[in-house]
Amino acid sequence: MTTTQQTNSSAEHYSNRIVLTTYPSQSVANPIPLTWGASSPTTRGPVIVGRTKNTLSKRNAIGAHGGSYSIYTALAIASGDLEPDFKPNFLNTQPTFNFPSQPAWSDPKKIVSMDPFGHDIVKHYSTYLDSGIDVRPTIAVTRATMRVSEITEAISLNRIPIDGSIVLNSSGDVKVTKVAVEPVWYLPGVAERFGVEEKDLRRALFEHTGGSYPELITRPDMKVFLPPIGGLTVYIFGPPERVSDPEIKLALRIHDECNGSDVFQSDICTCRPYLTFGIEEAIKEAQGGGSGVVIYFRKEGRALGEVVKYLVYNSRKRGGDTADKYFQRTENIAGTKDVSMPIPLGVGWMRFQALMPDILHWLGITKIDRMLSMSNMKHDAIVEQGIPIYERIPIPDHMIPEDSRVEIDAKIHSGYFTTGRQITEDDLKEVKGRGWESWEDVTVS
Ligand SMILES: [Zn+2]
Repeated sequence: MTTTQQTNSSAEHYSNRIVLTTYPSQSVANPIPLTWGASSPTTRGPVIVGRTKNTLSKRNAIGAHGGSYSIYTALAIASGDLEPDFKPNFLNTQPTFNFPSQPAWSDPKKIVSMDPFGHDIVKHYSTYLDSGIDVRPTIAVTRATMRVSEITEAISLNRIPIDGSIVLNSSGDVKVTKVAVEPVWYLPGVAERFGVEEKDLRRALFEHTGGSYPELITRPDMKVFLPPIGGLTVYIFGPPERVSDPEIKLALRIHDECNGSDVFQSDICTCRPYLTFGIEEAIKEAQGGGSGVVIYFRKEGRALGEVVKYLVYNSRKRGGDTADKYFQRTENIAGTKDVSMPIPLGVGWMRFQALMPDILHWLGITKIDRMLSMSNMKHDAIVEQGIPIYERIPIPDHMIPEDSRVEIDAKIHSGYFTTGRQITEDDLKEVKGRGWESWEDVTVS
């Protein structure tokens, strides 16, 4: 479908004819072949999503680069700060470490939510780039140092030695290899992972993005979607070549973003303590000749976002915050069942981690020696993907903030892994969070 509109000054970069959507067999639909799961990047073909003049007809994917930042790109273009046909210059942007190709890179079932060749598009697809087609990386690999106050403290307390190669100094600078990944979804594979029909997945994505991506409906031949959501970052301690070595011990923390705790140190949950514990154990593993990996997913509050999360907090604090009501409160507001539900009732919520193991396959991880997590959802999603977990390590009790006992005890009761005491239904009624009494006394004069 196309429509014609008068141009005005703000839209003068664009043609008069707006292509609202495309259909197979149209002249604007002449995609460069994209064969997900092909063994070589050349046979697989580049993921092409841009709509610039040279690229529009050759697109083979729906969505936009940059995940949620695609909207800011549009704002920059609309305000005249960025040319709509701007082409990045990728000189010297190549990865700082060449992750070895893994069998999973050409397995259309093992990697369905990222482009396994997304870090090396300049190497693989330079002919396309040279002919003016807008191909872009969806993965970037760099190196840096990080400094986290709990790690600096661990160094000062001699829990972590300064070794000069991983831990650099008493200020707590730690060398790290980082991999940023933007989501690239192979829709048939995503649908299969969730146990739904591809057409049902496409329809739901179309409807619940306000109809933003009509090609989800009109172009069933286009199988790849770059969704407007956050990605993930891998932090690797020690030499990155160790990550995929099956002879080398691996300590792993998979962490879902919790901005309030991770950055601002709210004490209502165990997120930052567990994250820093994960970083500490990953560093120690690397210092001992093993490999330590922390993977940080940008999906806040079990992918519900902070607004929903704060509404849940309010309903907990106003309703007498006890652990036995923890899951019910989330379900009332989010509508989704939480981990307390037994399979098969809880299976829907379990799928929340269904795409997470892709990055493990990409890194070539075939087993996890020490998993720094108590989550049964993460555990089951990984094991279901054929990656065994040899040991699960709960957060040490002394690192659990008092006000977060409501959440962690409710989770333990629901089946979260613990080496400590099991918790009964009666125990949960006794676990109370801090109230708001002292806040409600505050009045504005
Ligand atoms: Zn949290």
